[in-house]
Amino acid sequence: MKVAWIGLGNMGTPMAANLVRAGHQVVGFDLVEGARARAAGLGVIVATGAAQAVADAEVVFTMLPAGRFVRSALLDPGGVLDHLAPGSVVVDSSTIDIATARELHEQVTARGFRFLDAPVSGGVFGAEAGKLTFMVGGSDETLALVADVIDAMAGRVFHAGGPGSGQSAKLANNMMLAINTAGLAEGAVLAQRLGLDARTFYDIATVSSGDSWPLRNWYPVPGVVETAAVNRDFDGGFAVTLMSKDLGLALQAGRETATDLPLAEQVMGQLASLIELGWGGKDTASLVKLVDGSLGPAASSDSEDNR
Ligand code: NAD
Repeated sequence: MKVAWIGLGNMGTPMAANLVRAGHQVVGFDLVEGARARAAGLGVIVATGAAQAVADAEVVFTMLPAGRFVRSALLDPGGVLDHLAPGSVVVDSSTIDIATARELHEQVTARGFRFLDAPVSGGVFGAEAGKLTFMVGGSDETLALVADVIDAMAGRVFHAGGPGSGQSAKLANNMMLAINTAGLAEGAVLAQRLGLDARTFYDIATVSSGDSWPLRNWYPVPGVVETAAVNRDFDGGFAVTLMSKDLGLALQAGRETATDLPLAEQVMGQLASLIELGWGGKDTASLVKLVDGSLGPAASSDSEDNR
């Protein structure tokens, strides 16, 4: 298919590159020159602007930082919709707020196009490997039209439901991930202070009721799980700022549905502390640093108490 791609960042570029590899023609655009150059090196035809990128497209993907960027790229005068052929499909794979996703469904379809909210899970590694999990909101018919294209980037594709359902699934999932990671941090530190060998406790918990995805992938003690960012001073992985963004969107969804989310609120506060202390770019499993007191205010107030 003829695909347009708007937003060639950390996720967008490897996703678009997988479409090129699968034989699709991909014309892409990003505001940043470096992003455009990297994508061009991977076979993406780089356009001079969003309008040129979408001129011949049958499907347009957006992979942008937040809802307001997606709204502006699509709806602003001279933007994507002003240059797209009638009947084309717009797929937003960014993680954005549910209200904006629903509004985009309405506005895009009202102008004679089709729309899917289709956020992804799996991070940059999943994007590079073409193994992302897609959570799709919209109609069966629209999904069927672009299923082959999505398959070239996906390990699994779920049709979560109607408009906004993809974002709903993504935000509820990532909220659980954040809370599980905070729980893991407390469990790992407590086990260690009780004198347990980290590897032995990990082996016990993975086959017991404390098991979780972050436990198996992000255990925050060095040398236990190879993939864990703790082995690399928490570099790479799922950045605190990204988790904070997703959790903020989940809390917004909580307010909109009158749902109390006290655990999510608590973890949001912890992520804010990490960001304040300059750890925003580090992996989310660095939450363990707040528990073991090896970073920031907890450590310094302890030492003051000791004095
Ligand atoms: P990124 O910041 O690396 O990329 C976003 C790109 O969009 C940037 O290159 C920016 O220049 C570009 N951009 C912004 N406005 C634009 C416009 N109007 N026209 C063209 N380009 C524009 O972010 P990312 O890590 O690639 O994430 C993209 C989306 O995917 C976000 O919504 C994020 O929450 C979500 N996501 C990220 C990950 C991850 O691990 N990075 C995982 C799952 C989902």
